[in-house]
Amino acid sequence: MPMKQLSPKKLLLAGAGHAHIGLLRRLVAGQLESTGFKGTAIDIALISEQPQTIYSGMLPGWMAGHYSLDDISIDIKTLCMRASVRFIEQSIVQVDAASNMVATTGDERLVLDYDLLSLNTGAETDMRWLDKRDSYAKTDTHASTDVIAIRPLSEFITHWQQILAEARQASQYQLAIVGAGAAATELVMAAQVALQHINLNHQVTLVCGEHLLSGFNPRFQQRVIRQLHRHDIKIVHERATGYHDGHLLTAHDTLPMDAVIAATGVVGSAWTAATDLQTVNNGFIAVNAKQQSVSHSNVFAVGDVATRVDKDVAHSGVHAVHGGAIEADNLLAYLKDEPMQDYKPKKNTLYLLSCGDKYAIASWGALSLQGRGIWYLKRYIDQRFVKAK
Ligand SMILES: Cc1cc2nc3c(=O)[nH]c(=O)nc-3n(C[C@H](O)[C@H](O)[C@H](O)COP(=O)(O)OP(=O)(O)OC[C@H]3O[C@@H](n4cnc5c(N)ncnc54)[C@H](O)[C@@H]3O)c2cc1C
Repeated sequence: MPMKQLSPKKLLLAGAGHAHIGLLRRLVAGQLESTGFKGTAIDIALISEQPQTIYSGMLPGWMAGHYSLDDISIDIKTLCMRASVRFIEQSIVQVDAASNMVATTGDERLVLDYDLLSLNTGAETDMRWLDKRDSYAKTDTHASTDVIAIRPLSEFITHWQQILAEARQASQYQLAIVGAGAAATELVMAAQVALQHINLNHQVTLVCGEHLLSGFNPRFQQRVIRQLHRHDIKIVHERATGYHDGHLLTAHDTLPMDAVIAATGVVGSAWTAATDLQTVNNGFIAVNAKQQSVSHSNVFAVGDVATRVDKDVAHSGVHAVHGGAIEADNLLAYLKDEPMQDYKPKKNTLYLLSCGDKYAIASWGALSLQGRGIWYLKRYIDQRFVKAK
């Protein structure tokens, strides 16, 4: 009697974030093959909006002119090919977990079914600070009334090139960056270096509210503030509320600005508003320590798209990478019906903050260090991540 062929299980990887890049690389290296991940028993596909992904850690370095776009891009399509993973260039717009379905938008709308889904689609910039009544018109194509969100990075790249083109034509150019986290401070220093390289009259302002870099140790905060002063960056300790007719509005002021960039934290992507997966805190997929959805056991989520319900884990690239490594093992364990592991974040994580020129500050728990050597260390770590095979 002929043997009945078992149809392969379908593993769908949504998004090409840090975690899925790590998973693909492990497949290429054969590290997951030996445990049975790769092979005919599993049909793996990856959906991503673009064939390349921009590495956020090197984006400020690109803005400041240290790197080319190629230096900071990871070729996902080629990586998928090498890992024998089907690449689908689409954007997911719907996850219906009750029926194991993902819908996409792109040149043609696809509806894909899965046995196991892994979400690593990142998050969107939190634009809720904008007073939508008079300032934020997404449909308005005139650049001066649009605040530029840092995410998606692929769109930001184009906006930054436009800013540079405008700044080259102007005798004076005013740019504001709104945000109070590490990313905002890196961006503001990179922008100041780039704009002042064009014309010393150009000026970048950081609009950061009352608390800059909250959560980091005070010594690190002081070091960063000194670097902001060294670059003559204006710091406005007020909350921005809107941008209208070329003016950034704060509670007490109206600041003339040619462009405004928002690096104001993250909220869940728009598609999370209509999913049946359980979400928390503005649209993040609620996961347990195994990076598994708390509402649907065959859905895993990792990185900025997810929030742990059992403990406070910051949204960061570091946790996307380390959580992703555990999640990849758990995907396999789930398929083989074996025990899964918990992702246990280390107490301290190393954060390296670049200061526009070839200078950087390191933070690790209560310790901090700075100098050119730290910048080269950051470059080494970043390049190792981007160029890894
Ligand atoms: C300027 C800057 C500097 C930063 N520096 C650091 C740092 O030094 N260290 C650190 O730990 N963190 C840093 N961060 C934070 C870090 O970027 C994020 O926490 C990290 O990128 C999250 O990784 P992720 O894997 O969740 O998703 P992401 O890296 O955001 O990747 C998500 C991917 O999914 C794709 N995608 C999104 N939506 C869809 C969709 N609907 N359908 C299909 N594909 C989709 C995207 O195109 C992207 O490729 C920085 C952030 C910024 C803005």
